[in-house]
Amino acid sequence: MSQIIQPGSTLGVLGSGQLGRMFTIAARRLGYRVHVLSPDDDTPTGQVADVEVRAAYDDLDAIAKFAQGVSVVTFEFENVPSPTTQAAEKFAPVRPGGHVLHVTQNRLREKNFLRGIGIGTTPYFAVRSEADLREALEKTGCPAVLKTADWGYDGKGQAKIQSPDDIARIWPAFAGQESILEAYVDFACEVSIVGARGLDGEFVAYGPVHNTHRNHILDVSICPAPVSDQVSRDAIDIARTIFEKLQVVGVLCVEFFVTRDDKLLVNELAPRPHNSGHYTIDACVSCQFEQQVRAVCGLPLGSVRQHRPAAMVNLLGDVWQPNAPRWDLALKQPDLNLHLYGKAEPRAGRKMGHFTALADTAQQAAAIALAAREALQS
Ligand code: AMP
Repeated sequence: MSQIIQPGSTLGVLGSGQLGRMFTIAARRLGYRVHVLSPDDDTPTGQVADVEVRAAYDDLDAIAKFAQGVSVVTFEFENVPSPTTQAAEKFAPVRPGGHVLHVTQNRLREKNFLRGIGIGTTPYFAVRSEADLREALEKTGCPAVLKTADWGYDGKGQAKIQSPDDIARIWPAFAGQESILEAYVDFACEVSIVGARGLDGEFVAYGPVHNTHRNHILDVSICPAPVSDQVSRDAIDIARTIFEKLQVVGVLCVEFFVTRDDKLLVNELAPRPHNSGHYTIDACVSCQFEQQVRAVCGLPLGSVRQHRPAAMVNLLGDVWQPNAPRWDLALKQPDLNLHLYGKAEPRAGRKMGHFTALADTAQQAAAIALAAREALQS
């Protein structure tokens, strides 16, 4: 009982994008107050939080002051520097802990961790020089994917290598940074598991969710995913192992490739709610953001039961071109929910919002959400 952070307390979130916004909305529904810290103001999270603090993540005095004003610190993006979490930890628990961030914010550390606990990934090699790259490419064969080890998301800092002749063109953008070369996976599909783990070790998982990307950015998620029961069970078992080995308290997403012979390879971990879990807001008893609140506050986790098959379609800034979106037409679709993140500037590739649709099958739900998105540009 003493470890529970009671409703009415104040929760701190580092990072101020849409994930923080949806976390804040869930926290407020449960009666909490929320303070947010990020280097920006009038942010998607700040617009709905009680207090918005503008400070750099490496301003350790500001971080310490922030942590003194809250009962627990969580985050909505994984690139918070380690000294920041250490500064916050002196005044309030940080959940998930700094060690989870440390592992997941660097692709090499993350894959070494996975390999160390016996979880399958595509073959990969550390690359620190052009000579390393040539040697690694001989081992992976072509095609292969070169990624920067730090600061990677949504396909940023990535290049596909089709032949050794590409090296001269691709390497200069990577030189000087620690990188990782991965064998290209000719996958059957991509799925993810969003899970949550409580302070007492209780574990729950949604999904798996089937994800389709466009230009490396998530485009459509559907749940249930069209994969076998065995693949579903294996994915949840792998996720549970990762949560336990990392001692996660909070929410984490495991992204997988499903190979053509139904093997699961882990591509990436995200130690926070994930875009592929947004459908849970409209489709499940407790959504991924409520699970984050419950987990970091030491409360029992909520039910992951899904009411109906669902699909989520992202709305990028591109939808605002060439004209303002036709919400009046899109929202005529049945069983559809609109979520907008309060971002003023609809830049191409920027996540502005999403639709969730519910239907008798996930495929029908996807058709509804896609029709709504198409209507926006009519
Ligand atoms: P990431 O930033 O690692 O999540 O990559 C974004 C997307 O790029 C993934 O969801 C895949 O669609 C694709 N991708 C990344 N790595 C590989 C790989 N080794 N083989 C095939 N596709 C990949």
